[in-house]
Amino acid sequence: MSFFETYEPVFGTYVLGNAPVKQIATGFDWVEGPVWFGDAGCLLFSDIPNDRIMRWMPDGTVSVYREPSNYANGHTRDRLGRLVSCEHGTRRVTRTEHDGSITVLADAFDGKRLNSPNDVVVKSDGTIWFTDPHYGIMTNYEGFESEQELPCNVYRIDPERGTMEAIATDFNCPNGLAFSPDETRLYIADTGRMFRDDPAHVRVFDVSNDGQLSGGDVFHVIEPGVADGFRCDMDGNLWSSAADGVHCIDPGGTLLGKILVPELVSNVCFGGRAKHHLFITATTSVYSVVLNRKGSQSP
Ligand code: MG
Repeated sequence: MSFFETYEPVFGTYVLGNAPVKQIATGFDWVEGPVWFGDAGCLLFSDIPNDRIMRWMPDGTVSVYREPSNYANGHTRDRLGRLVSCEHGTRRVTRTEHDGSITVLADAFDGKRLNSPNDVVVKSDGTIWFTDPHYGIMTNYEGFESEQELPCNVYRIDPERGTMEAIATDFNCPNGLAFSPDETRLYIADTGRMFRDDPAHVRVFDVSNDGQLSGGDVFHVIEPGVADGFRCDMDGNLWSSAADGVHCIDPGGTLLGKILVPELVSNVCFGGRAKHHLFITATTSVYSVVLNRKGSQSP
């Protein structure tokens, strides 16, 4: 059995035919938000329904990093290496300082509570971009069932200026997001309310130097499933979650190939010695595979 499906020949140069897709941790309920800490030699990821952040070490050790986690979902690191997290339970985005204290970066907009921040990226200028769909307040499974006060927007925080702006307001349910390696493009998934005929696509925006978005056309429609989370490699290919695994989509929007994963995938991140391991969070388990590609700079 092969772990890969090739749609365009170039995909064969991105994967290693003899590198397995390995289950490296299991026993969770819905894993999300993988983020690699090369300095600490570990992977952090959320186990959202169990209200905890887990830590995996390359020797196979799995332990609890933070519990309760306020039903944390997506994570990334800022340019000083600090953990930046989306929390459903407290409906906020936080930063974990080097001393372990927690700084709240955003929990409201226009005087109304955020819905349930889902995924987050940090641009090289230090601005923090996150999506705020309502998934975490729909039920008590991944947070606390509650009223939605705001539309499902995408926001940008400028921590230096102390400002926060809604930078995309025409989404059904924005979810994963990632910059292209040169940060001239921002990809944002729309996963809808998970009903039939809802959006299941990734849109692409042009990013101006002052952080404004333009464009926003549909870049790629995921089939089967939705693009819950994704990361770019160094060549700008998008490695995205889908129902049958991880799809590799080139900067033109063409599906190049798939990594087949036996559980529903939520998100991915690059890590490891040469940033050539792809870590895959998928329902009850975390998988990893070594690629012949490196992740882009953005963690
Ligand atoms: Mg997500």
